[in-house]
Amino acid sequence: MPAALPQSLWAATAAAGPALVPLERALRVDVAIIGAGYTGLAAALHLAGAGRSVAVLEARSLGERASGLNGGQVIPGLKTDPDTLEELFGAERGARLVASVAAGPDLVFDLIERHGIACDATRSGWIQPATSESALPPLATRAAQWQRRGAAVELLTARAVAALVGSERYCGGLLDRRGGTVQPLAYLRGLARAVLRHHAGIFTQCPVLHLRRAAREWQLETPRAVVTAPAVIAATNAYSGGLIGALQRSVVTVPSFQVATAPLTPAQRAGILPGGQAASDTWHLLRYFRLDASGRLVLGARGTFGAVPGPRSCRHHYRAVHEIYPQLGDVRFEYHWGGLVAMTRDHLPHLHELAPGLLAGLGYNGRGVAMATLMGRLLAQRTLGMSDAELAFPVTPLRPIPFHRGASFAARAAIQYLRAVDLVTRGRDRLRGRASWT
Ligand SMILES: Cc1cc2nc3c(=O)[nH]c(=O)nc-3n(C[C@H](O)[C@H](O)[C@H](O)COP(=O)(O)OP(=O)(O)OC[C@H]3O[C@@H](n4cnc5c(N)ncnc54)[C@H](O)[C@@H]3O)c2cc1C
Repeated sequence: MPAALPQSLWAATAAAGPALVPLERALRVDVAIIGAGYTGLAAALHLAGAGRSVAVLEARSLGERASGLNGGQVIPGLKTDPDTLEELFGAERGARLVASVAAGPDLVFDLIERHGIACDATRSGWIQPATSESALPPLATRAAQWQRRGAAVELLTARAVAALVGSERYCGGLLDRRGGTVQPLAYLRGLARAVLRHHAGIFTQCPVLHLRRAAREWQLETPRAVVTAPAVIAATNAYSGGLIGALQRSVVTVPSFQVATAPLTPAQRAGILPGGQAASDTWHLLRYFRLDASGRLVLGARGTFGAVPGPRSCRHHYRAVHEIYPQLGDVRFEYHWGGLVAMTRDHLPHLHELAPGLLAGLGYNGRGVAMATLMGRLLAQRTLGMSDAELAFPVTPLRPIPFHRGASFAARAAIQYLRAVDLVTRGRDRLRGRASWT
């Protein structure tokens, strides 16, 4: 009997996933994948499609971690703007990297279509509403850089944002028509079904406890059986734990919590995100929000370290909903949940070759629905022998963050600092009479 998932809107509304069980007997495969989130399952799908035998080993139930819990916003590109990526990686490699991350949403929506995944997918775009005047110039730069590359990205006036978001709070914004939304757990379960149809194995409640290299092969020890494979992909992201300690130490993990209202009445819903876009605003501690298929407002924001998502720990989420949409009045909140986001020091995702035949991809900085799906394909391509020069993403050395424990404290301090910066911005804008944040 599979363990129940933690309570969330997605667990309550997704169709049941495939029946999965732990691994009971020794197995030899071409590729063993650790972790059944988007990264691991996308890698498995591409490898199995290329005729490789694959086993995905998942420590928990399918969807218990970030890929089953996130906001379902399919966001194109990375947090770093395209010109900067080209400066960092050179004109030719940088341009390939930009093109591949720009196409992340295409990959997600193609997989959904090709594999018939029922996950309430919509592709009406992603909005970045500006919370202060000072956020507008960077948005204008971003829009111009994408427009030069032919992307359907446009800068919006305050009035246009008000019409699209249904809130008068914002000073302007950016609309990226490449983005969209999915029911994240349903998307994950659909990927799992596609992997199983390709005759790859997915084993749940099956943590990899030890990873050993012996005679040019890897041995992955799980509680009841050992898997042997010449190639291994670690797809463990924010939940890497101690298996490959240096991997966990290469990211800082921060909690993000979400709340969902009861389905909005037609009167409440009138004017709120009428085009069905997803939105992530420009506060340093950003709020991301969207409607789900039944018209609930789903809003996410920073979580509290060590706290369980619930009415007490999500009070600032309630405040955010009321600030953005005062017209909602006394709306009822029915779900609270959250998970961990893996942040990297350079704000870029990372693809590492840790040892011969051992790859890892992680660090999506809160933008993993498209990027983890893409990373899965990149990891599969690399496993299938694509060279460094051909791959559309740089393979970089693993760099654990020095004094990692200290870095985690620093992350908490940084969150407090960014909160203070946001408060100062609110205060300044209020004094200038420019914005109406309370
Ligand atoms: C609350 C929240 C909201 C988010 N919202 C968005 C959003 O709206 N849009 C967006 O683009 N991104 C969002 N993200 C980020 C996105 O969810 C992640 O980047 C993405 O899901 C990462 O996928 P993954 O497969 O790499 O990792 P995960 O989905 O975390 O999967 C890793 C898996 O590895 C398993 N594992 C770890 N160690 C072992 C082991 N030793 N043996 C076996 N298995 C192991 C874990 O159990 C886990 O299932 C959000 C994240 C959170 C937490």
